[in-house]
Amino acid sequence: MTSYLIKNARVLGGEPQDLRLKDGLIAEIGTGLAADGETVVEADGLVALPGLVDLHTHLREPGREDAETVLTGTRAAAKGGFTAVHAMANTFPVADTAGVVEQVWRLGRESGYCDVQPVGAVTVGLEGKQLAELGTMADSAAGVRVFSDDGKCVDDAVIMRRALEYVKAFGGVIAQHAQEPRLTEGAQMNEGAVSGELGLRGWPAVAEESIIARDVLLAAHVGSRLHVCHVSTAGSVEIIRWAKSKGWDVTAEVTPHHLLLTDELVRSYDPVYKVNPPLRTETDVMALREALADGTIDAVATDHAPHPSEDKDCEWAAAAMGMVGLETALSVVQQTMVDTGLIGWAEVADRMSRRPAAIGGLAGQGRPVSVDEPANLVLVDPAYRGTVNPDSFATRSRNTPYRGRDLPGRVVATFLRGRATVLDGELV
Ligand SMILES: [Zn+2]
Repeated sequence: MTSYLIKNARVLGGEPQDLRLKDGLIAEIGTGLAADGETVVEADGLVALPGLVDLHTHLREPGREDAETVLTGTRAAAKGGFTAVHAMANTFPVADTAGVVEQVWRLGRESGYCDVQPVGAVTVGLEGKQLAELGTMADSAAGVRVFSDDGKCVDDAVIMRRALEYVKAFGGVIAQHAQEPRLTEGAQMNEGAVSGELGLRGWPAVAEESIIARDVLLAAHVGSRLHVCHVSTAGSVEIIRWAKSKGWDVTAEVTPHHLLLTDELVRSYDPVYKVNPPLRTETDVMALREALADGTIDAVATDHAPHPSEDKDCEWAAAAMGMVGLETALSVVQQTMVDTGLIGWAEVADRMSRRPAAIGGLAGQGRPVSVDEPANLVLVDPAYRGTVNPDSFATRSRNTPYRGRDLPGRVVATFLRGRATVLDGELV
């Protein structure tokens, strides 16, 4: 296996240092290290972070390989600086059995670009009626710890309670897609001034907030762990802040797009901006940034949701919801959080690597950049300025809301256990 000597990387944005990667580990960190047969990677001006960990990725395999496969999705992940992703369960068939989660897990290992940790469904077929085989999935080779019906809300309070109780036995967590179904029937975008003007059916903030309020109370009641997927409103932030102040075991994530984009974009009627939960208002965006900065929101998660063009290039009402995000996540976080002075690179490492790995229970990911730790690393050029060109994406789909937009930063290299998956910005 090739060994690497990374020269003059700013670890977590600090002073330049050299890192020697050997046998899958960070073997040495120092200044003026001499190459001992390793491939030298010049990293002047580059920031070194621990490999990013995504809690929320739709890899679409099995069933929708026209949108993405485990291979294309993990290649996109590597290009985005990720060394581990959690694959959501809303595939065809649904990942609600040991057989399906083991299949996804195995495909991830075979890809070699990025670790794939399957998320198991909470209920059979994501139908919200009957608990899936949570224990069997936990005991499987995939070792599932995160369970979610993402795409759908576990809206039945009794089912949600049982799921929360069940996962306590093996330290699991329920990741809830908080969307009260009756309040969002036929909803097309955020409910507010813009939806009123456009005459599109609104998706009220309370549909998200009421479920989060119920679930933090349920988690506290049964003494279990709740994770809130893609928080999108200022009110949700307040509820999570309150739950954490009580000492309840609640964590939350925010997507890059909810840190940057607002429902004003829907005026274009371009379905690339159609997403679940919907883009909200500037007030929500600012509250989400503040919550990520102060740690109320634990993690950035992409909700990478690839769709083939025939599902997106159509009229607004008919278009599928979701956007790709793996290859732009770090740039959006740099623009909204780092370049604005809200957080530094150490906090980026915390919110995009350490905490998501801890929430997902991943050993060997989200570790400090220190000697004897697994060499899961990303080198970022924060000075890079470029325009997003989806034609260069590794994901199979092209439904990005950032086409033609200037975003800062570029992933120059990604290392998975000491092996380069990306070098000079290109897949290895
Ligand atoms: Zn979701």
